[in-house]
Amino acid sequence: MAMRCEQVVDVLVDYIDGELDAEHSQRLQNHCDSCLHCARFVETYCRTGKICRKALSVTMPGSVESTLFEFLRTELQSG
Ligand SMILES: [Zn+2]
Repeated sequence: MAMRCEQVVDVLVDYIDGELDAEHSQRLQNHCDSCLHCARFVETYCRTGKICRKALSVTMPGSVESTLFEFLRTELQSG
């Protein structure tokens, strides 16, 4: 049975993490072969996910964190 677009969204996170089982991975790929919308979505999500993971794997230095925090607080108050 073909996977529907909603199901692609449901399993996408596991797919990106490499935790999706072979059967569902295959179904997701089959769906993307015939659904350009989902193919694009998965591609974009993969790219974004990798970038986010890379950013999160680097610990933000304390000084940067507090500067950013101060900046945001000032921005929010002045807004
Ligand atoms: Zn689709």
